[in-house]
Amino acid sequence: MTKHIIIAGSGFAGTWSALSAARAVALAGKEDAIEITVISPEPSLHIRPRFYEAVIENMDPDVGKLFAAVGVKHVAGIVQNIHSDWRQVEVLLPNGARQKLAYDKFVLAAGSKLFQPPVPGLREHAFNVDQLTNAKALDRHLKALPARPETPARNTIVVAGGGFTGIETVAEMPQRLREIFGTQAELRVIVVEQAPEIGPDLGPGPRPFIEEALAEQGVEIITGTGVAAITADSVTLGNGEVIPTNTVIWTAGARANALAAQIPGTHDRFGRVEADAFLHAKAAKDIFVTGDVALAATDTLGNNAAMSCQHALSLGRVAGHNAAAELVGLALHPYAQPKYVTCLDLGPWGAIFSEGWDRQVKFTRDEGKAIKREINTKWIYPPMADRDAVFAIANPDYVIVP
Ligand SMILES: Cc1cc2nc3c(=O)[nH]c(=O)nc-3n(C[C@H](O)[C@H](O)[C@H](O)COP(=O)(O)OP(=O)(O)OC[C@H]3O[C@@H](n4cnc5c(N)ncnc54)[C@H](O)[C@@H]3O)c2cc1C
Repeated sequence: MTKHIIIAGSGFAGTWSALSAARAVALAGKEDAIEITVISPEPSLHIRPRFYEAVIENMDPDVGKLFAAVGVKHVAGIVQNIHSDWRQVEVLLPNGARQKLAYDKFVLAAGSKLFQPPVPGLREHAFNVDQLTNAKALDRHLKALPARPETPARNTIVVAGGGFTGIETVAEMPQRLREIFGTQAELRVIVVEQAPEIGPDLGPGPRPFIEEALAEQGVEIITGTGVAAITADSVTLGNGEVIPTNTVIWTAGARANALAAQIPGTHDRFGRVEADAFLHAKAAKDIFVTGDVALAATDTLGNNAAMSCQHALSLGRVAGHNAAAELVGLALHPYAQPKYVTCLDLGPWGAIFSEGWDRQVKFTRDEGKAIKREINTKWIYPPMADRDAVFAIANPDYVIVP
């Protein structure tokens, strides 16, 4: 009887889970006995790390042909319920119908969503760069601003959150606005971070470079106070300051997809499901968690995978391999990713490339930017639809960052 692996999500983790599972099934010569199905709204991989960029092009490459080349089926839909007790998922199809699908192994790779706390006006008035539709909505809004009457609110952009995404977004903004408004416009670009310093999670190493880059772009940095309220034409800070603006871009962190809450077991403060060394959900037999929904140890020193595509690309390969390996009798592969790097885009200044969890800066400015360009245009894109070439890099011990 055919056994079923179902994967929810076709992002970095879901796509590589599917490719790695297909490789394991082929290695065991069990293609006729195992069916691998990816469920996601569409057969494309959204390149979320680029959504802060000024030009929103080629950000959702098709993976349908890639899946077909390795014998993976794609079902367009959204997984709504996971019944771990009787190994079934319920899927909402694009025509509004609901379908129940049974699985032998289920891989949750549904990613994360922007964290939106109950700040008054946030959901109604703020923009963000979390999903492709959001990045496109921001782009349309920015391009429509010059048609409005000139006011301080029109000419001021406020980025809420001075973490990784906030910094990349704000560093790109002055140049992006000059292209939209022209070089003569009087513009203000502000980043607001509630911690005492910009880039609180990035540590002291990168900070002087971040401050230099933002100062060079004319970005104002406000720290030590958060965003308290947002309207269509202003933002109020926690310290009472009111800044006139038509554009607040919210970037304050991510939470695991709500589906993760349906999986029994321990969840961390980001909603991620605790995984064992093989990426099984610890409390749910036959379910694997991967990418942004997985709380997984990267090493034996106490570090956990970040919500990052660097980790999702490896977590995906391991989860997919292990889901298939359990069905076809191959050895399971433990997840480990001891090397960690960060590449932070700082707009026209360049980028910072750092190594280690303490982020030791190795390259800055143009050298850093060249690496960022390589990552953002090559490394994270899905491969060509060539079965042998894909299987050569879909192994669970593939090293993402050499
Ligand atoms: C602006 C921005 C900048 C970033 N910059 C970086 C960076 O520089 N470096 C880095 O490493 N990381 C970066 N990240 C983080 C990185 O994008 C994520 O960690 C990565 O996308 C996680 O991969 P994933 O496959 O787990 O989830 P995702 O890429 O979010 O994919 C989730 C998939 O699940 C699907 N899905 C969602 N819900 C359901 C459902 N109910 N049923 C079925 N399918 C579903 C989605 O359609 C999608 O296909 C950035 C993120 C953002 C938003």
